[in-house]
Amino acid sequence: MIKKLCSYPGCHKVVEAGVKYCSKHRDTDRKKYREYKQQRMKDEEEARRQQFYNSKAWELFRAARAAEQLGIDIYEYYTTGRIVEAENYHHIQEITEAWGRRLDAANVIGLSEANHRRIHKEYDRSYKAKRKMQMILYAMLERFYREFVLDGGL
Ligand SMILES: [Zn+2]
Ligand SMILES: [Zn+2]
Repeated sequence: MIKKLCSYPGCHKVVEAGVKYCSKHRDTDRKKYREYKQQRMKDEEEARRQQFYNSKAWELFRAARAAEQLGIDIYEYYTTGRIVEAENYHHIQEITEAWGRRLDAANVIGLSEANHRRIHKEYDRSYKAKRKMQMILYAMLERFYREFVLDGGL
């Protein structure tokens, strides 16, 4: 039987002809493929995200939400009572998490830069913290629409 060396760089284990790697390195190709695929999916997701935030559809949707939500930071309003200008329109369920809700008015909330950062920090803390914050934001947004939008404004 013809024998050859494991194809893994630097490995001197002898393997059967027709086999590429020794038992220790057998998963190398599969692992590499998996990593490549994962990276590619991440890149595609990021490209899709960028493309969406640069789209006309988002620009129009964002402007409509700003008009509807009176351009204010709703989180600030319901936590401190202060009226602060919104600089970001944040997806409560992020578009990577819920692509189908990217243009859903019940999923986008106006926030100042500082609160936007604070909320993303909370999202990053843990899955549980994120869920909790999302529930708070949904409740605030619902309340805002109930109090100021649906029954005809201030
Ligand atoms: Zn090997
Ligand atoms: Zn955000």
